[in-house]
Amino acid sequence: MAGSVVLERLGIRSVDSSSASIASLNPADGSELGRVRLASTEDYERTISKSIEVFQRWRMFPAPKRGQIVREIGDELRRFKDDLGTLVTLEMGKILAEGKGEVQEMIDIADFAVGLSRQLYGLTIASERPEHRMLEQWHPLGVVGVISAFNFPVAVWSWNALLAAVCGDCVIWKPSLKTPLTALAVQNICDRVLARHGWSGVLQLIIGDDATIGERLTADRRIPLISATGSTRMGRVVAETVARRLGRTLLELGGNNGVLVMNDANLDLALRAVLFGAVGTAGQRCTSIRRLFLQRGIAQEMTRKLKGAYDGIRIGDPMDEKTLMGPLIDRQAVEAMRAALARIQAEGGEIIFGGEELGGCYVKPALVKARADMPIVQEEVFAPILYLIEFDALEEAIQWHNAVPQGLSSAMFTGNLISAETFLSARGSDCGIANINIGTSGAEIGGAFGGEKDTGGGRESGSDAWKAYMRRQTVTTNWSQELPLAQGIEFDV
Ligand code: NAD
Repeated sequence: MAGSVVLERLGIRSVDSSSASIASLNPADGSELGRVRLASTEDYERTISKSIEVFQRWRMFPAPKRGQIVREIGDELRRFKDDLGTLVTLEMGKILAEGKGEVQEMIDIADFAVGLSRQLYGLTIASERPEHRMLEQWHPLGVVGVISAFNFPVAVWSWNALLAAVCGDCVIWKPSLKTPLTALAVQNICDRVLARHGWSGVLQLIIGDDATIGERLTADRRIPLISATGSTRMGRVVAETVARRLGRTLLELGGNNGVLVMNDANLDLALRAVLFGAVGTAGQRCTSIRRLFLQRGIAQEMTRKLKGAYDGIRIGDPMDEKTLMGPLIDRQAVEAMRAALARIQAEGGEIIFGGEELGGCYVKPALVKARADMPIVQEEVFAPILYLIEFDALEEAIQWHNAVPQGLSSAMFTGNLISAETFLSARGSDCGIANINIGTSGAEIGGAFGGEKDTGGGRESGSDAWKAYMRRQTVTTNWSQELPLAQGIEFDV
């Protein structure tokens, strides 16, 4: 009921099941929220043609003016924050505070992009030749394909799309088929703003399956950049396809994030951070804490505190304000968690709390005593399972921490400067994100976001991540009447 009202306010009309369509299900109760038509190859051609045509003009529209349009998109997102946040919760299952937080992240990045639209700076470089000027300038790249994952159905698109838009690119968005309605709702907002200014087509959406649309998008030579967020499995397929045509990729893939808690840590701080990091979004964040390294002196106490805190977590309807943990995305995710728990036991891990299935897509988060070298600990299991691993010396913990294939986010809890700086040094954490006395998830948009190794190496959002959406041009102007060559080469007849 709440769903249909919100959908109506966001301008979404469900299609009937006779057409090629998919159902969007509410993971909280399995009910159908609506149906969405799947795009055909003809739809794809129409979409890309439109993007290419609009790009010819958009790239010449001054960047600060592009920023003004993004500002209006940000204003509309503010206006619809509650409805959009509610829809994120209904469709994805994260609790309402997190659903609205995700929309706030879009608003924040819109603000950031507006400022950026006046700061797409290049360098001037000293030339070795007299009366020559050298500089570097940044031009729009072209049409950018954005592939997004179910767990952040809209925020990660906005990191890409709103930056790409001020950079002068056009964007085609292929969302996860598990969360198509939130994508449609955001697209409706963008469509209205863009149409008002005669810029329809700068941001477009295409909802389709991976074989018809996803693979076509990644193989398309007309798209110079594919930004893809999702599993490492998907990233490998996409990276290979795009590399074959020498296109660029920006990959944001799986994490296997670790936290070190030292003997001298503030345990209450660590406990709160671990709870949010491991149980928030039901353990379905790329930055969720999966491995907790406990130094021997505090291991018992921290384990006891964690068990107590886990016992108090209110699991249930994500729309209920008292709930801290909603459902997993679907039944397959519940089955994957069950299979992972069985493997954990077979590999010698001990489940010391939770892991039970509670019906539907609901589960109890699990605490597991584990060894760092267990095969399953090397993998990303996208569920609320937290491995507790004890260690003695800092160097040993850092070695274990860095031993997994993924390299997204990491953190250490300590009151000791030397431990903290060791963790942040070149022989410390090998991740794209390293924090001290805060958890691994919930990054601010101002920093560049992303990770190393199997996480894909991409950087999005703040800092100078915008450069991924532009092409760099080195310019040398000779304003002399001579033609000196670089490196002192003489080439006169
Ligand atoms: P997924 O890999 O199943 O799907 C992600 C997206 O890729 C979907 O839109 C899907 O349709 C598309 N896709 C899959 N195969 C494709 C192909 N061959 N060609 C084109 N597109 C294809 O991931 P998911 O289950 O939706 O999301 C969870 C995963 O995403 C986790 O591994 C999580 O860590 C990761 N993730 C990473 C980040 C990050 O920033 N590093 C952020 C969010 C999620």
